Amino acid sequence: MTVLDRVIGRLSKLPGLGKKSASRIAYYLLKADQALVSSLAMDIMELKSKIKTCPICGNYTEELPCSICTDTHRDKETICVVEQPKDLLSIESTHEYHGLYHVLMGVLSPIDGVGPDDLRIRKLFERIDGGEIREVIIATNPTVEGETTALYLINQMKEKSLKVTRLALGLPVGGDLEYADRLTLARALQGRQRIES
Ligand SMILES: [Zn+2]
Repeated sequence: MTVLDRVIGRLSKLPGLGKKSASRIAYYLLKADQALVSSLAMDIMELKSKIKTCPICGNYTEELPCSICTDTHRDKETICVVEQPKDLLSIESTHEYHGLYHVLMGVLSPIDGVGPDDLRIRKLFERIDGGEIREVIIATNPTVEGETTALYLINQMKEKSLKVTRLALGLPVGGDLEYADRLTLARALQGRQRIES
């Protein structure tokens, strides 16, 4: 097997890339500047060594804690709970939200054996019990697992004196925050609803 075959094989395992797109990228790299190919390869290597998980919110970051957690201009009384760092990025891109985040790093999924201890849920409640938090916005995806996770969190928060809200308006059912356009996400944030307990 040649290097070219190996590169195509590895690229085609990446999400969203089939064999065809993988070949297109491999042939493009073959013709591209050496500098571009080298810096791409170095950056991919550094991704694994330099990017860490923020010990507070769970976002990917190079500085610990991350720049969102240490930003003194952000609203420290509101936490938005998301499944993955890419969801945090989607919400940030709306410029509608100025509070803090908490990344769960997954969703509850009994079928796959994912329970509350496998996610960053305990850490979330430590932050809530820390005192400053007044509102929790649950922004899990509108999928079966996302709903299950949201209901679990809402249940656990019942006894606490918190305003608990969920993203509502505009999000397509079965969709993914990552693929929602900015306007849809912005409207979903504005239209979040209080959950009566
Ligand atoms: Zn952080």
